[in-house]
Amino acid sequence: MSVCMTCRGEYISSKCLCPFCNTALGDNLQRCRNCGRDVQGRRLCPRCGSDVAVWERERITLTKFLAQGGFLGLGPAFVVALLAPLWWGKNPMPAYNHFASILAILFSLAVFMTLFAIRYTLRERRWAAEVQTVRGVSSVYWIAGFFLLGLGAAMVVFIIYMLAIPQVSNPIANLSLMMLFAAAYSLASAGFAAGITLFVLEYDLRRLDQVVPQPIFMNTDRLLDVILSAVATTLSKKSSGQGKKSALEVVRLSRDESSGDVNLLILEHLGPRKSDNSHTWRVEADKWGRLKSMYPAFPPPQFSRRVIGGEG
Ligand SMILES: [Zn+2]
Ligand SMILES: [Zn+2]
Repeated sequence: MSVCMTCRGEYISSKCLCPFCNTALGDNLQRCRNCGRDVQGRRLCPRCGSDVAVWERERITLTKFLAQGGFLGLGPAFVVALLAPLWWGKNPMPAYNHFASILAILFSLAVFMTLFAIRYTLRERRWAAEVQTVRGVSSVYWIAGFFLLGLGAAMVVFIIYMLAIPQVSNPIANLSLMMLFAAAYSLASAGFAAGITLFVLEYDLRRLDQVVPQPIFMNTDRLLDVILSAVATTLSKKSSGQGKKSALEVVRLSRDESSGDVNLLILEHLGPRKSDNSHTWRVEADKWGRLKSMYPAFPPPQFSRRVIGGEG
């Protein structure tokens, strides 16, 4: 099972649809068995209808990220590893210990891997900020903040270096200075690693956005199709065995500004559309089109127009 990056729905390749006739491709992913056409490297998600093949080709793997500039994010850890023998080996300082270098390297690598692991969450958050009221600041401020953190911590390292030169003799003062040095050294290295990694990631993600589809929550119309097909499946399970085939009509739709959730009022017509034989459902789905709740509701009120008071 793979996960569609546009709608977060699971899919298996053989169930993906032909881009020309919308039927399942089956085992031959090159040529449609129904219309006989070459699918030209495209395959549509059975849930949301977006191209999943382009995502499979373009997704940012660790190797691809490293090759496309991500290796720069490992720079600070590399510099720390080089400084241990080249600088600290020749300029020993009471506050310095190799433990500080190991801590700084591990910290920087952890930051690099964490940011890489949440790359698509960062992308979705950026898109969500365009249609929802998303809390927090944009990645530009995060990048600037991490660089400032790195610079500030590097200044602390420098100050300790200058202070420690006159040789701290008190062993307790020396130990606390050593711990402070290790913390500042790690923060400086990790701050720069985070700033650089995030900068390269942003660049790669924006390049990715030019070839892959936007997340489904950006398009209410397509989201509605996904929700309606989930509602239809649920209703057909409810009425299985009763042989009833119903039609769905959306009579009200609203979206929550902060979560992107969709609230719907749906009429389920069990006979001809104008007949009274219909049920009303209130449906709530998240921004990926997954049903959160669905329960019977009052039908939309019908009443004649009234005006009270006023002149003429
Ligand atoms: Zn086809
Ligand atoms: Zn999908």
